[in-house]
Amino acid sequence: MKNITVLGSTGSIGVNTLDVIARHSDRFNTQALSANSNVALFAEQCIQHQPEVAVMVEENAAEQLKSKIHNKAPDVRVLSGKEALCNIAAMDSVDQVMAAIVGGAGLLPTLAAAKAGKRVLLANKEALVMSGQVFMDTVKNNHAELLPIDSEHNAIFQCMPAEFASGLGEVGVRQILLTASGGPFRTTPVRQLSEMTPEQACKHPNWNMGKKISVDSATMMNKGLEVIEACWLFHTTPAHIEVVIHPQSVIHSLVKYDDGSVLAQLGNPDMRTPIAYGMSWPDRITAGVEPLDLFEIAKLEFEKPDEQRFPCLRLAKEAMQQGGTSSAILNAANEVAVASFLDKQLSFTDIARLIEQVLEQVQHHEADSLDIILEDDAIARQHAKALARGMTV
Ligand code: NAD
Ligand code: MG
Repeated sequence: MKNITVLGSTGSIGVNTLDVIARHSDRFNTQALSANSNVALFAEQCIQHQPEVAVMVEENAAEQLKSKIHNKAPDVRVLSGKEALCNIAAMDSVDQVMAAIVGGAGLLPTLAAAKAGKRVLLANKEALVMSGQVFMDTVKNNHAELLPIDSEHNAIFQCMPAEFASGLGEVGVRQILLTASGGPFRTTPVRQLSEMTPEQACKHPNWNMGKKISVDSATMMNKGLEVIEACWLFHTTPAHIEVVIHPQSVIHSLVKYDDGSVLAQLGNPDMRTPIAYGMSWPDRITAGVEPLDLFEIAKLEFEKPDEQRFPCLRLAKEAMQQGGTSSAILNAANEVAVASFLDKQLSFTDIARLIEQVLEQVQHHEADSLDIILEDDAIARQHAKALARGMTV
Protein backbone atom coordinates (compact mmCIF):
# COMPACT_ATOMS: atom_id res chain seq x y z
CA MET A 1 0.00 0.00 0.00
CA LYS A 2 1.36 3.43 -0.99
CA ASN A 3 0.37 6.43 1.11
CA ILE A 4 -0.20 9.62 -0.85
CA THR A 5 -0.41 13.30 0.00
CA VAL A 6 -2.30 15.36 -2.56
CA LEU A 7 -1.31 19.03 -2.44
CA GLY A 8 -4.04 21.04 -4.17
CA SER A 9 -6.67 18.30 -4.11
CA THR A 10 -9.57 20.62 -5.10
CA GLY A 11 -7.94 21.64 -8.39
CA SER A 12 -8.22 20.01 -11.77
CA ILE A 13 -5.15 17.78 -11.23
CA GLY A 14 -6.12 17.10 -7.61
CA VAL A 15 -9.60 15.90 -8.54
CA ASN A 16 -8.19 13.64 -11.26
CA THR A 17 -5.65 12.23 -8.81
CA LEU A 18 -8.35 11.35 -6.28
CA ASP A 19 -10.28 9.68 -9.09
CA VAL A 20 -7.30 7.41 -9.86
CA ILE A 21 -6.73 6.70 -6.15
CA ALA A 22 -10.41 5.73 -5.72
CA ARG A 23 -10.08 3.21 -8.57
CA HIS A 24 -7.20 1.48 -6.75
CA SER A 25 -8.03 1.51 -3.07
CA ASP A 26 -6.10 -1.77 -2.73
CA ARG A 27 -2.85 -0.04 -3.81
CA PHE A 28 -3.14 3.60 -2.72
CA ASN A 29 -4.25 5.31 0.45
CA THR A 30 -4.95 9.03 0.83
CA GLN A 31 -2.80 10.10 3.75
CA ALA A 32 -3.19 13.87 3.53
CA LEU A 33 -5.00 16.45 1.41
CA SER A 34 -4.67 20.20 1.02
CA ALA A 35 -6.70 23.00 -0.50
CA ASN A 36 -6.65 26.77 -0.46
CA SER A 37 -10.22 27.96 0.07
CA ASN A 38 -12.87 25.74 -1.57
CA VAL A 39 -14.45 24.40 1.64
CA ALA A 40 -17.47 22.72 0.03
CA LEU A 41 -15.51 20.46 -2.34
CA PHE A 42 -12.72 19.88 0.18
CA ALA A 43 -15.26 18.71 2.79
CA GLU A 44 -16.68 16.18 0.31
CA GLN A 45 -13.17 14.92 -0.45
CA CYS A 46 -12.35 14.55 3.24
CA ILE A 47 -15.55 12.59 3.84
CA GLN A 48 -14.97 10.30 0.87
CA HIS A 49 -11.22 9.72 1.34
CA GLN A 50 -10.87 10.02 5.14
CA PRO A 51 -7.28 11.31 5.09
CA GLU A 52 -5.30 11.38 8.32
CA VAL A 53 -4.63 15.11 7.89
CA ALA A 54 -6.43 17.84 5.91
CA VAL A 55 -4.84 21.26 5.45
CA MET A 56 -6.66 24.41 4.42
CA VAL A 57 -4.26 27.28 4.00
CA GLU A 58 -6.67 29.89 5.35
CA GLU A 59 -7.54 29.62 9.04
CA ASN A 60 -11.15 30.69 8.50
CA ALA A 61 -11.61 28.05 5.87
CA ALA A 62 -10.09 25.42 8.18
CA GLU A 63 -12.58 26.34 10.92
CA GLN A 64 -15.48 26.05 8.47
CA LEU A 65 -14.16 22.69 7.32
CA LYS A 66 -14.01 21.34 10.88
CA SER A 67 -17.66 22.11 11.46
CA LYS A 68 -18.66 20.68 8.09
CA ILE A 69 -16.95 17.30 8.54
CA HIS A 70 -17.03 16.64 12.28
CA ASN A 71 -19.94 14.19 11.95
CA LYS A 72 -18.89 12.25 8.88
CA ALA A 73 -15.10 12.39 9.19
CA PRO A 74 -14.39 12.87 12.91
CA ASP A 75 -10.90 11.35 12.76
CA VAL A 76 -9.49 13.77 10.17
CA ARG A 77 -7.00 16.16 11.77
CA VAL A 78 -7.63 19.63 10.28
CA LEU A 79 -4.70 22.06 10.16
CA SER A 80 -4.13 25.46 8.60
CA GLY A 81 -1.22 27.59 7.45
CA LYS A 82 1.56 27.31 4.91
CA GLU A 83 3.89 25.39 7.19
CA ALA A 84 1.33 22.61 7.49
CA LEU A 85 1.57 22.15 3.71
CA CYS A 86 5.28 21.39 4.06
CA ASN A 87 4.58 19.06 6.97
CA ILE A 88 2.09 16.90 5.08
CA ALA A 89 4.51 16.74 2.15
CA ALA A 90 7.27 15.41 4.41
CA MET A 91 5.36 13.17 6.86
CA ASP A 92 7.19 9.89 7.58
CA SER A 93 4.16 7.80 6.69
CA VAL A 94 3.92 9.29 3.18
CA ASP A 95 5.41 7.56 0.12
CA GLN A 96 4.25 9.81 -2.71
CA VAL A 97 3.34 13.47 -2.97
CA MET A 98 1.20 14.83 -5.79
CA ALA A 99 2.43 18.40 -6.21
CA ALA A 100 -0.68 20.00 -7.73
CA ILE A 101 -0.80 23.45 -6.17
CA VAL A 102 -0.78 26.10 -8.89
CA GLY A 103 2.05 28.63 -9.12
CA GLY A 104 4.88 29.67 -6.80
CA ALA A 105 2.73 28.85 -3.75
CA GLY A 106 3.63 25.22 -4.42
CA LEU A 107 7.39 25.68 -4.34
CA LEU A 108 8.13 25.16 -0.64
CA PRO A 109 5.82 22.17 -0.08
CA THR A 110 7.09 20.50 -3.27
CA LEU A 111 10.68 21.06 -2.18
CA ALA A 112 9.78 19.71 1.27
CA ALA A 113 8.62 16.47 -0.38
CA ALA A 114 11.88 16.22 -2.35
CA LYS A 115 13.91 16.95 0.78
CA ALA A 116 12.10 14.16 2.62
CA GLY A 117 13.05 11.73 -0.17
CA LYS A 118 9.51 11.08 -1.39
CA ARG A 119 8.31 10.10 -4.85
CA VAL A 120 7.39 13.56 -6.14
CA LEU A 121 4.60 13.55 -8.74
CA LEU A 122 5.28 16.91 -10.32
CA ALA A 123 2.33 18.75 -11.84
CA ASN A 124 3.34 22.11 -10.32
CA LYS A 125 5.76 23.06 -13.11
CA GLU A 126 6.20 26.58 -11.69
CA ALA A 127 8.11 25.11 -8.73
CA LEU A 128 10.73 23.58 -11.02
CA VAL A 129 10.84 26.63 -13.32
CA MET A 130 11.55 28.85 -10.32
CA SER A 131 14.14 26.75 -8.57
CA GLY A 132 15.74 24.66 -11.38
CA GLN A 133 19.12 23.44 -10.19
CA VAL A 134 18.26 23.82 -6.48
CA PHE A 135 15.23 21.58 -7.03
CA MET A 136 17.14 18.96 -9.03
CA ASP A 137 19.95 18.93 -6.43
CA THR A 138 17.42 18.50 -3.63
CA VAL A 139 15.92 15.50 -5.43
CA LYS A 140 19.32 13.95 -6.04
CA ASN A 141 20.85 14.59 -2.62
CA ASN A 142 17.85 13.15 -0.80
CA HIS A 143 17.27 10.18 -3.12
CA ALA A 144 13.79 11.38 -3.98
CA GLU A 145 12.10 10.16 -7.16
CA LEU A 146 10.86 12.77 -9.61
CA LEU A 147 8.02 11.67 -11.91
CA PRO A 148 6.70 14.25 -14.37
CA ILE A 149 2.91 14.53 -14.48
CA ASP A 150 2.68 17.33 -17.04
CA SER A 151 1.36 15.29 -20.00
CA GLU A 152 4.20 16.27 -22.37
CA HIS A 153 6.96 15.51 -19.88
CA ASN A 154 5.29 12.31 -18.86
CA ALA A 155 5.20 11.35 -22.56
CA ILE A 156 8.89 12.25 -22.97
CA PHE A 157 9.75 10.24 -19.85
CA GLN A 158 7.93 7.25 -21.35
CA CYS A 159 9.88 7.60 -24.63
CA MET A 160 13.33 8.11 -23.04
CA PRO A 161 15.83 5.33 -22.39
CA ALA A 162 16.15 4.52 -18.68
CA GLU A 163 19.69 5.97 -18.46
CA PHE A 164 18.81 9.46 -19.76
CA ALA A 165 20.26 11.10 -16.64
CA SER A 166 23.75 10.43 -17.98
CA GLY A 167 23.09 12.97 -20.77
CA LEU A 168 20.90 12.82 -23.88
CA GLY A 169 23.90 12.66 -26.25
CA GLU A 170 25.20 9.62 -24.37
CA VAL A 171 21.98 7.68 -24.90
CA GLY A 172 21.53 8.52 -28.59
CA VAL A 173 18.82 11.14 -28.18
CA ARG A 174 19.08 14.01 -30.65
CA GLN A 175 16.07 16.18 -29.88
CA ILE A 176 12.87 16.47 -27.88
CA LEU A 177 9.71 17.42 -29.78
CA LEU A 178 7.39 19.13 -27.31
CA THR A 179 3.83 19.26 -28.61
CA ALA A 180 1.40 22.10 -27.96
CA SER A 181 -2.25 22.49 -28.86
CA GLY A 182 -1.81 26.16 -29.77
CA GLY A 183 -4.65 27.00 -27.35
CA PRO A 184 -7.90 28.82 -28.12
CA PHE A 185 -6.26 31.66 -30.14
CA ARG A 186 -4.18 29.61 -32.57
CA THR A 187 -6.05 30.99 -35.57
CA THR A 188 -7.50 34.24 -34.18
CA PRO A 189 -6.32 37.21 -36.28
CA VAL A 190 -3.33 38.73 -34.42
CA ARG A 191 -4.87 42.24 -34.45
CA GLN A 192 -7.88 40.91 -32.49
CA LEU A 193 -5.82 39.32 -29.71
CA SER A 194 -5.82 42.46 -27.54
CA GLU A 195 -9.62 42.19 -27.26
CA MET A 196 -9.74 38.59 -26.04
CA THR A 197 -11.50 38.17 -22.68
CA PRO A 198 -10.66 35.87 -19.74
CA GLU A 199 -13.71 33.76 -20.64
CA GLN A 200 -12.43 33.26 -24.19
CA ALA A 201 -8.89 32.58 -22.97
CA CYS A 202 -10.09 29.93 -20.50
CA LYS A 203 -12.01 27.98 -23.15
CA HIS A 204 -9.35 25.47 -24.10
CA PRO A 205 -10.14 23.35 -27.17
CA ASN A 206 -8.96 20.00 -25.74
CA TRP A 207 -8.23 20.17 -21.98
CA ASN A 208 -10.31 21.18 -18.99
CA MET A 209 -7.86 22.85 -16.57
CA GLY A 210 -7.50 25.51 -13.87
CA LYS A 211 -7.76 29.16 -14.93
CA LYS A 212 -4.09 30.06 -14.63
CA ILE A 213 -2.81 27.24 -16.83
CA SER A 214 -5.66 27.88 -19.28
CA VAL A 215 -4.52 31.49 -19.76
CA ASP A 216 -0.92 30.24 -19.98
CA SER A 217 -2.04 27.93 -22.79
CA ALA A 218 -3.69 30.81 -24.62
CA THR A 219 -0.48 32.92 -24.47
CA MET A 220 1.67 29.79 -24.93
CA MET A 221 3.58 30.77 -21.80
CA ASN A 222 2.56 27.30 -20.69
CA LYS A 223 4.73 25.85 -23.46
CA GLY A 224 7.51 28.30 -22.54
CA LEU A 225 7.39 27.09 -18.92
CA GLU A 226 7.36 23.52 -20.24
CA VAL A 227 10.51 24.11 -22.32
CA ILE A 228 12.23 25.20 -19.10
CA GLU A 229 10.71 22.28 -17.19
CA ALA A 230 11.97 19.83 -19.87
CA CYS A 231 15.49 21.32 -19.75
CA TRP A 232 15.74 20.52 -16.04
CA LEU A 233 13.98 17.16 -16.09
CA PHE A 234 15.91 15.81 -19.07
CA HIS A 235 19.27 17.54 -18.59
CA THR A 236 19.18 19.50 -21.84
CA THR A 237 18.97 23.02 -23.30
CA PRO A 238 16.30 24.93 -25.28
CA ALA A 239 18.40 24.36 -28.43
CA HIS A 240 17.57 20.63 -28.21
CA ILE A 241 13.83 21.14 -27.76
CA GLU A 242 11.49 21.96 -30.63
CA VAL A 243 7.94 23.09 -29.96
CA VAL A 244 5.46 21.58 -32.42
CA ILE A 245 1.89 22.80 -32.62
CA HIS A 246 -0.39 19.79 -32.84
CA PRO A 247 -4.00 20.96 -32.50
CA GLN A 248 -5.53 17.51 -31.78
CA SER A 249 -3.51 16.99 -28.52
CA VAL A 250 -3.27 13.26 -29.16
CA ILE A 251 0.52 12.95 -29.45
CA HIS A 252 1.70 14.18 -26.07
CA SER A 253 5.36 14.63 -27.16
CA LEU A 254 8.13 12.80 -29.02
CA VAL A 255 11.81 11.90 -28.71
CA LYS A 256 14.07 11.86 -31.77
CA TYR A 257 16.99 9.43 -31.76
CA ASP A 258 20.30 9.48 -33.68
CA ASP A 259 19.33 6.37 -35.67
CA GLY A 260 16.32 8.09 -37.24
CA SER A 261 13.75 6.64 -34.83
CA VAL A 262 11.14 8.97 -33.39
CA LEU A 263 9.26 7.62 -30.37
CA ALA A 264 5.97 9.16 -29.33
CA GLN A 265 3.37 8.62 -26.63
CA LEU A 266 -0.25 8.95 -27.75
CA GLY A 267 -3.50 8.95 -25.86
CA ASN A 268 -6.78 10.73 -25.36
CA PRO A 269 -6.25 14.10 -23.66
CA ASP A 270 -7.06 13.04 -20.09
CA MET A 271 -4.66 13.81 -17.23
CA ARG A 272 -5.55 10.58 -15.44
CA THR A 273 -3.20 8.74 -17.83
CA PRO A 274 0.00 10.57 -16.77
CA ILE A 275 -1.21 10.68 -13.15
CA ALA A 276 -1.75 6.90 -13.02
CA TYR A 277 1.58 6.31 -14.75
CA GLY A 278 3.44 8.47 -12.21
CA MET A 279 1.74 6.79 -9.28
CA SER A 280 2.29 3.22 -10.47
CA TRP A 281 5.62 3.53 -12.35
CA PRO A 282 7.28 1.23 -13.35
CA ASP A 283 4.00 -0.74 -13.42
CA ARG A 284 0.88 0.33 -15.29
CA ILE A 285 -2.62 0.49 -13.86
CA THR A 286 -6.03 1.41 -15.25
CA ALA A 287 -6.82 5.12 -15.22
CA GLY A 288 -10.45 5.25 -16.33
CA VAL A 289 -9.35 6.58 -19.72
CA GLU A 290 -10.80 5.23 -22.97
CA PRO A 291 -8.16 3.87 -25.34
CA LEU A 292 -7.43 5.93 -28.42
CA ASP A 293 -9.55 5.31 -31.52
CA LEU A 294 -7.28 6.22 -34.44
CA PHE A 295 -10.06 5.88 -37.01
CA GLU A 296 -12.17 8.37 -35.11
CA ILE A 297 -9.27 10.84 -34.96
CA ALA A 298 -8.38 10.18 -38.62
CA LYS A 299 -6.09 13.18 -38.97
CA LEU A 300 -3.08 14.50 -37.03
CA GLU A 301 -1.72 17.95 -37.92
CA PHE A 302 1.51 19.77 -37.11
CA GLU A 303 2.59 23.41 -37.44
CA LYS A 304 5.51 25.58 -36.39
CA PRO A 305 4.62 28.08 -33.67
CA ASP A 306 4.47 31.75 -34.67
CA GLU A 307 6.52 33.69 -32.10
CA GLN A 308 4.95 36.98 -33.15
CA ARG A 309 1.54 35.65 -32.18
CA PHE A 310 3.01 34.00 -29.07
CA PRO A 311 5.81 36.26 -27.72
CA CYS A 312 5.68 34.48 -24.33
CA LEU A 313 7.29 31.42 -25.89
CA ARG A 314 10.30 33.49 -26.96
CA LEU A 315 10.49 35.24 -23.56
CA ALA A 316 10.61 31.91 -21.72
CA LYS A 317 13.37 30.50 -23.93
CA GLU A 318 15.37 33.71 -23.51
CA ALA A 319 14.98 33.58 -19.73
CA MET A 320 16.21 29.97 -19.65
CA GLN A 321 19.18 30.87 -21.84
CA GLN A 322 20.01 33.83 -19.61
CA GLY A 323 20.03 31.45 -16.63
CA GLY A 324 20.20 32.19 -12.89
CA THR A 325 17.03 33.63 -11.41
CA SER A 326 15.70 34.82 -14.82
CA SER A 327 13.22 31.94 -15.03
CA ALA A 328 11.94 32.74 -11.52
CA ILE A 329 11.54 36.39 -12.56
CA LEU A 330 9.70 35.34 -15.72
CA ASN A 331 7.40 33.07 -13.73
CA ALA A 332 6.67 35.74 -11.10
CA ALA A 333 5.87 38.36 -13.74
CA ASN A 334 3.64 35.88 -15.54
CA GLU A 335 1.69 34.99 -12.39
CA VAL A 336 1.02 38.67 -11.68
CA ALA A 337 0.14 39.38 -15.32
CA VAL A 338 -2.26 36.44 -15.56
CA ALA A 339 -3.99 37.36 -12.28
CA SER A 340 -4.38 40.97 -13.52
CA PHE A 341 -5.76 39.74 -16.84
CA LEU A 342 -8.26 37.47 -15.06
CA ASP A 343 -9.26 40.51 -12.95
CA LYS A 344 -9.80 42.45 -16.21
CA GLN A 345 -7.08 44.94 -15.28
CA LEU A 346 -4.81 44.03 -18.20
CA SER A 347 -5.59 43.20 -21.80
CA PHE A 348 -4.55 39.83 -23.21
CA THR A 349 -1.60 41.25 -25.16
CA ASP A 350 -0.45 43.25 -22.10
CA ILE A 351 0.51 39.94 -20.46
CA ALA A 352 3.57 39.48 -22.70
CA ARG A 353 4.35 43.23 -22.66
CA LEU A 354 4.42 43.26 -18.89
CA ILE A 355 6.61 40.15 -18.62
CA GLU A 356 9.09 41.54 -21.15
CA GLN A 357 9.41 44.78 -19.18
CA VAL A 358 9.90 42.97 -15.88
CA LEU A 359 12.62 40.80 -17.44
CA GLU A 360 14.38 43.91 -18.75
CA GLN A 361 14.08 45.89 -15.52
CA VAL A 362 14.64 43.37 -12.71
CA GLN A 363 18.24 42.31 -12.15
CA HIS A 364 18.78 38.55 -12.18
CA HIS A 365 21.37 36.70 -10.09
CA GLU A 366 23.06 33.30 -9.87
CA ALA A 367 20.35 30.94 -8.62
CA ASP A 368 22.58 29.13 -6.15
CA SER A 369 20.31 29.23 -3.11
CA LEU A 370 16.61 29.14 -2.36
CA ASP A 371 16.89 32.49 -0.54
CA ILE A 372 18.15 34.28 -3.66
CA ILE A 373 15.39 32.70 -5.75
CA LEU A 374 12.69 33.73 -3.27
CA GLU A 375 14.13 37.24 -3.05
CA ASP A 376 14.16 37.80 -6.81
CA ASP A 377 10.70 36.23 -7.06
CA ALA A 378 9.39 38.77 -4.51
CA ILE A 379 11.11 41.72 -6.23
CA ALA A 380 9.75 40.66 -9.62
CA ARG A 381 6.20 40.30 -8.25
CA GLN A 382 6.33 43.75 -6.66
CA HIS A 383 7.71 45.29 -9.83
CA ALA A 384 5.14 43.53 -12.01
CA LYS A 385 2.29 44.75 -9.79
CA ALA A 386 3.51 48.34 -10.06
CA LEU A 387 3.80 48.06 -13.85
CA ALA A 388 0.36 46.43 -14.08
CA ARG A 389 -1.20 49.38 -12.23
CA GLY A 390 0.32 51.70 -14.84
CA MET A 391 -0.97 49.61 -17.74
CA THR A 392 -4.50 49.11 -16.41
CA VAL A 393 -7.03 49.12 -19.25
P1 NAD B 1 -6.31 24.57 -10.26
O1 NAD B 1 -6.39 26.04 -10.21
O2 NAD B 1 -7.46 23.81 -10.80
O3 NAD B 1 -6.01 24.00 -8.79
C1 NAD B 1 -5.04 24.54 -7.97
C2 NAD B 1 -5.04 23.87 -6.61
O4 NAD B 1 -4.05 24.58 -5.81
C3 NAD B 1 -6.35 23.98 -5.84
O5 NAD B 1 -6.54 22.82 -5.09
C4 NAD B 1 -6.14 25.18 -4.92
O6 NAD B 1 -6.89 25.06 -3.73
C5 NAD B 1 -4.66 25.09 -4.62
N1 NAD B 1 -4.07 26.41 -4.38
C6 NAD B 1 -4.22 27.53 -5.15
N2 NAD B 1 -3.54 28.56 -4.61
C7 NAD B 1 -2.96 28.09 -3.48
C8 NAD B 1 -2.14 28.70 -2.48
N3 NAD B 1 -1.79 29.99 -2.52
N4 NAD B 1 -1.72 27.90 -1.45
C9 NAD B 1 -2.07 26.61 -1.40
N5 NAD B 1 -2.86 25.99 -2.30
C10 NAD B 1 -3.30 26.72 -3.33
O7 NAD B 1 -4.97 24.21 -11.05
P2 NAD B 1 -4.64 22.90 -11.93
O8 NAD B 1 -5.11 23.13 -13.31
O9 NAD B 1 -5.05 21.68 -11.20
O10 NAD B 1 -3.05 22.99 -11.98
C11 NAD B 1 -2.24 22.64 -10.87
C12 NAD B 1 -0.79 22.57 -11.32
O11 NAD B 1 -0.66 21.51 -12.27
C13 NAD B 1 -0.32 23.84 -12.04
O12 NAD B 1 1.01 24.08 -11.73
C14 NAD B 1 -0.45 23.49 -13.51
O13 NAD B 1 0.48 24.17 -14.33
C15 NAD B 1 -0.14 22.00 -13.49
N6 NAD B 1 -0.72 21.24 -14.61
C16 NAD B 1 -2.07 21.19 -14.74
C17 NAD B 1 -2.64 20.48 -15.79
C18 NAD B 1 -4.14 20.36 -15.94
O14 NAD B 1 -4.59 19.63 -16.82
N7 NAD B 1 -4.93 21.02 -15.14
C19 NAD B 1 -1.81 19.85 -16.71
C20 NAD B 1 -0.42 19.93 -16.54
C21 NAD B 1 0.11 20.61 -15.48
MG1 MG C 1 1.45 20.27 -20.34
